[in-house]
Amino acid sequence: MKIINNPEELRKNIEILKKEGKTVGLVPTMGALHYGHISLMKQSVLQNDITVVSVYVNPIQFGPNEDYERYPRPIEKDIQVCQDNKVDFLFMPTNETLYNKNFSTYIYNNNISKIMCGVTRPTHFQGVCTVVAKLFNIAMPQRAYFGLKDYQQYTIIRQMVEDLNFNIEIVGCPIVREESGLAMSSRNTYLSQEEKVQATGIYKSLCLAKQLFAEGKSIKDIKSAVEENILKIPNGKIDYIELRNSQNLREVTDSDKNIVIAVAVKVGNVRLIDNMVCEK
Ligand code: AMP
Repeated sequence: MKIINNPEELRKNIEILKKEGKTVGLVPTMGALHYGHISLMKQSVLQNDITVVSVYVNPIQFGPNEDYERYPRPIEKDIQVCQDNKVDFLFMPTNETLYNKNFSTYIYNNNISKIMCGVTRPTHFQGVCTVVAKLFNIAMPQRAYFGLKDYQQYTIIRQMVEDLNFNIEIVGCPIVREESGLAMSSRNTYLSQEEKVQATGIYKSLCLAKQLFAEGKSIKDIKSAVEENILKIPNGKIDYIELRNSQNLREVTDSDKNIVIAVAVKVGNVRLIDNMVCEK
């Protein structure tokens, strides 16, 4: 495995391999790698000759009062995880190499970046789209892998690829959960043991919602049931509960057959997101 910090160096390496006819898969991450990330790597290794994993805590996707500074950065462990999972290139750019001092071009989704997480994190998806577009241009992958855990991000990236004619297949990978049902996340390290147990209430609420949807209950009733359940979490505070079309995140009516139930909940001081796709 090659560890590369410089964008131009990665691009040169990839150019040579692509000339040889090799296919490239990209897995963008912010590090503190867990089994959720590993599932993306495995899928990329399966489908491509070369797998590039980026580990980069992207400052422009964090708001002013968010956790950019304290975001976990266990570099040595992340290197080992990538090595163990047959990653070919680990790309760990520095802020300086990615954003020079004249940096001034951003990519902004003018529609679905304003809802759900975009309400409390108004510049988040602009930061995500911009860095992902840069990674696409640097790594030039045929396929890029995103977790359905960040369902809004996945949908926005698919929209960006369509809108800006990136010739890249976006592969969505299922949510990997702890045995308890808690969706794996690098931010789970902020939770106390007690909060981890309490946070399983989120998954339980989503399972209940899925069942109610399958039974034909109304959107309004499902939302109320989820709300009632999540409010039982001690120190739980709901940021949002949204039921939306799973293809494009537009608002749904009772006649919709493919929906995603997405929630953001603060457990103590830790903001967690989770979702479940439901069909009937
Ligand atoms: P992050 O490092 O949190 O920015 O995540 C990098 C990628 O891993 C994103 O595409 C996430 O959606 C994905 N990911 C994170 N957690 C999980 C999980 N529990 N299951 C599946 N994918 C995940």
